[in-house]
Amino acid sequence: GSQAVDRRVDSVCPFCGVGCLITYQIREEKIVSVQGRDGPANHGRLCVKGRFGFDYAHHPERLTRPLIRKPGVPKDWQGQTRPAHWRELFREASWDEALDLAAGQLAALRERHGPKALAGFGSAKGSNEEAYLFQKLVRTGFGSNNVDHCTRLCHASSVAALLEGVGSGAVSNPVHDVEHAELIFVIGANPTANHPVAATWMKNAARRGSKIVLADPRVTDIGRHAWRTLQFRADTDVAMLNALIHTVIEEDLVDMAFVRARVDNFDALKANAAGYSPEAVAPVCGIPAQTLREVARAFARARSAMILWGMGVSQHVHGTDNARCLIALCAITGQIGKPGSGLHPLRGQNNVQGASDAGLIPMMFPNYQRVDDPEARAWFENFWGLHPAPAGGGRPGALDATPGYTVVEIMHKALAPESDPHKVRGMYIMGENPAMSDPDLNHARHALASLEHLVVQDIFLTETAWLADVVLPASAWPEKTGTASNTDRMVQLGRRALNAPGDARPDLWIIQQIAQRMGLDWRYEGEESGVAAVYEEMRQAMHASIGGISWERLVRASSVTYPCHSADDPGQPIVFTERFPTPTGRLKLVPAQTIPAAEQPDAEYPLVLITGRQLEHWHTGSMTRRSSVLDAIEPMATASVHGDELRCRGLQPGALVRIRSRRGGVQLRLRRDDGTPHGTVFMPFAYGEAAANLLTHAALDPFGKIPEFKYCAVAIEQL
Ligand code: SF4
Repeated sequence: GSQAVDRRVDSVCPFCGVGCLITYQIREEKIVSVQGRDGPANHGRLCVKGRFGFDYAHHPERLTRPLIRKPGVPKDWQGQTRPAHWRELFREASWDEALDLAAGQLAALRERHGPKALAGFGSAKGSNEEAYLFQKLVRTGFGSNNVDHCTRLCHASSVAALLEGVGSGAVSNPVHDVEHAELIFVIGANPTANHPVAATWMKNAARRGSKIVLADPRVTDIGRHAWRTLQFRADTDVAMLNALIHTVIEEDLVDMAFVRARVDNFDALKANAAGYSPEAVAPVCGIPAQTLREVARAFARARSAMILWGMGVSQHVHGTDNARCLIALCAITGQIGKPGSGLHPLRGQNNVQGASDAGLIPMMFPNYQRVDDPEARAWFENFWGLHPAPAGGGRPGALDATPGYTVVEIMHKALAPESDPHKVRGMYIMGENPAMSDPDLNHARHALASLEHLVVQDIFLTETAWLADVVLPASAWPEKTGTASNTDRMVQLGRRALNAPGDARPDLWIIQQIAQRMGLDWRYEGEESGVAAVYEEMRQAMHASIGGISWERLVRASSVTYPCHSADDPGQPIVFTERFPTPTGRLKLVPAQTIPAAEQPDAEYPLVLITGRQLEHWHTGSMTRRSSVLDAIEPMATASVHGDELRCRGLQPGALVRIRSRRGGVQLRLRRDDGTPHGTVFMPFAYGEAAANLLTHAALDPFGKIPEFKYCAVAIEQL
């Protein structure tokens, strides 16, 4: 109970992008409970993950010593080695031995094959400071832009559309601004499960009279609060959204004053939308034309209307097109740049916004400065103390001018033929688990296993770490100080509450040890002062967004919203009020045509698989499945199907089945869920024993390079 705690430490929830502020209650060096703090994103509220997902930090499977792979042990991921059997694969080592081997092998590959032979995955689960330092290591130490993280699997397509359309990948309005929205349009998101505290803002707005529209092939809990539910056929997003745009234009609901003043390319959008009347689209998407027209009118006529979306929009080969349509809908109705309106891609991970801002992406330096922009490159070469590049670039000491490979591309490059000059041979993976999170896992695991040298830094022996040559034991979130930026663009401070177990070390220390052994003279010293020094360096590189947020201010305030230009700027929760940060200052409409999913169901694989998350488990499950309360609530993998689908296939809820696609198969139990439409199966991807991504397809959106996690063909067999 709260009377018996030794101390309380303020931090941020380590799970989702909502960014709830919390207080850890600590007794005898263990977290015993978590309380919600009165943060700007949560006002004291927490969901079940924030409240109960903490004892993973004390789990006996925590990595406590560096590990080195035993000679001759094959990287046989199909052996389904469990963490409990780690001694068969690895031996314990000292930090010096493990770091010398890790950095020495990476450096040797760089010497032998050039900088493109190396790649790094950082993490949206780490702090901004870790993300910043990790990308700096890859860019200045490895020597290429082959650095990415799970944003590629998350909102990369949304960001591609937003950068192109409005000039900034971040949200225009914070979640809690839904309280000023007359209409709240939720599409391709399940906020009650995945952004639960954000969902409370939506539900409370509905209680006060706001209209929620849920557009999703799956009707989830938020549908109970919705004024209209558009349960459209999976993969028909672009057609459905174009029908809404068509209606707004045809029925003269366009905010022409706004369009004339602030929007480009309206005529092209209008010409494109002409072919998508609600009457033509209704049989395609499965929504009556009258309903489409009603929703379009309500959106356009609302005093303020806001769109919030999730991976259901972004994780398609047409993810960027989906987001382009959402931008267009807001633009032509003038629903952007004012309270209760705008575009909000709900960020998944606690720090996926911040990690992207900090440059943990292959095409941009910190603050979205393009790596192929010579001015940006010269600025960072000078800032990071490298020799300036001569005209034409390319000599050692200069930053690489070509964008690096993305997450899925790096996996392909690991399997490239020997003759490929860009074959990836060595990787450093910090806090990500691509052996669970990438599409088509048989391919991804084979790629990881075929690397000549793989260094994995994590808190558990994840599925990815099973394939490593060197495993470096890192610190869990409560064991280090650092900042994370939430979905609302709030930079928030997490404080160290515990010591790491055994010899586990803070990630920032480990990154520096690797950097120093690869020839970089880095000294960000001291556990807290080192973090502050990295933050302050990052702040200089990101002056345009976080210039007014000093470390000292964060220590005082815990949470400050950017853009924030000076010490007395309170931060700007709502942006685009006067201009868009595009080269012209205007929003650019980009029309989208329908393109089908990469793989369609057929006689052999008759069902569509949609993957996603559930309330209790987080992403690849490494933390929440080791949190005792969460694991007790959802102890096993299940696949959800509609009751009628069960009946017509002669299956019972709870039946053990095998679900297979052209790429792999898993065994798990069925769950009845009448929100999941006929002809589809929904599976969470958090369960290692039934990994949904063994089934998924690696086809990519051409702009955001995001895989199509939300659509592939599968079959079910009863066992
Ligand atoms: Fe944590 Fe997100 Fe739940 Fe808040 S809503 S407690 S940030 S998981």
